[in-house]
Amino acid sequence: MKVQGITVLGSTGSIGQSTLDVVRRHPDRYRVVALTAYSQVDRLVADCLEFLPLLAVVGDEASAAKVLARLRDSGARTEVLWGEQALVQAATHPDADMVMAAIVGAAGLAPTLAAAHSGKRVLLANKEVLVMAGELFMHAVREHGASLLPVDSEHNAIFQSLPSDFARGLTQCGVQKILLTASGGPFRNTPLADLANVTPEQACAHPNWVMGRKISVDSATMMNKGLEVIEARWLFDAPPEMIQVVVHPQSVIHSAVQYVDGSVLAQMGNPDMRTPIAYAMAWPERVAAGVEPLDLFKIARLDFMAPDFERFRCLRLAYDVLYEGGTAPAILNAANEVAVAAFLDGSLPFLGIARLVEAVLHALPAGPEGSLEDVLAADSKARQLAHKLIRDHHFA
Ligand code: NAD
Ligand code: MG
Repeated sequence: MKVQGITVLGSTGSIGQSTLDVVRRHPDRYRVVALTAYSQVDRLVADCLEFLPLLAVVGDEASAAKVLARLRDSGARTEVLWGEQALVQAATHPDADMVMAAIVGAAGLAPTLAAAHSGKRVLLANKEVLVMAGELFMHAVREHGASLLPVDSEHNAIFQSLPSDFARGLTQCGVQKILLTASGGPFRNTPLADLANVTPEQACAHPNWVMGRKISVDSATMMNKGLEVIEARWLFDAPPEMIQVVVHPQSVIHSAVQYVDGSVLAQMGNPDMRTPIAYAMAWPERVAAGVEPLDLFKIARLDFMAPDFERFRCLRLAYDVLYEGGTAPAILNAANEVAVAAFLDGSLPFLGIARLVEAVLHALPAGPEGSLEDVLAADSKARQLAHKLIRDHHFA
């Protein structure tokens, strides 16, 4: 078997590090071609010294100089670049067969789209790409013969539970519903009155998963599940009515597919992202991922309940923008990114996140998704308005 070259976009993050752990276990199968980070110079240098990529990318010139000096001191010959265009170079590197898209947020859109345009196998963790530009991205994948493997654990589970020819249409394949599971996050049972005073540390303490801070806050508001509904719509060409969110606090069933004959096929496992990452990397084969086997006796029981749209307004807003279509999901995503960052730096209360996103959606009319420029313009307008509303203390 030919060794597969892999670029890891966002290699210093939670998904990036889990990806490198899978690579480390299979040096005979994978070779790292490029790694990209934003500001975590120490982590990037350590990973460059271990995996010896051809290219390393960071966010700014000063970080690039630091990385370069330390690599040259250690005798490593990795090329070091910085900035957005360099991310695209990493994503389209001729030696990369596959690209792990694990940058968080809108910053990952351009390089992930570029990977699709150059026909790579795209391992997609960066769900914001599909939320912002689902139609454009799926079109690029089809037009340029790229393959798309979902890394988000729910979508990876759905992918595993669908027939391999699902692209001919879910209904044609006998699918009735996609059952998208959700843990409900750390505040599933918190009294509503207490949510007003939630701190970033509490919001980032997810009961089952260890993740980056943005997705942890998204899980606490359940915006993450909303983004995942939109992600599922595009990945599987599923109408919103077909996507049912199921709250399942143990995070053992990672999602399921319900068929017309009464069957429900689910994928189960311990909550460890190395399982979906290894699946996406090795598909259609399977490789060891370093994950503990699932012990059903230890788990003993699994619970399921309907989502509470009153408590988790962000989930409702995500369904709303999905029905609205066009640039509405991009507006929601941009407002949410600004809101989460403001919550994390203490300038917005927890409940302000949903209120801010809703206010931005009300103020800005959605247009057609059209081109990448349309999407980026909607994103930028939404960010400006969200920042202004925070500055003016609308949600303090
Ligand atoms: P993280 O915060 O741990 O890592 C983010 C990575 O993106 C880092 O390497 C960082 O350097 C890079 N980055 C951040 N801003 C950047 C910018 N402006 N330009 C270039 N690079 C930038 O995040 P994570 O938890 O690894 O999540 C990554 C993506 O995967 C997100 O879209 C998230 O929704 C998705 N995801 C994560 C998990 C998980 O378990 N962590 C599960 C499913 C999906
Ligand atoms: Mg998920």
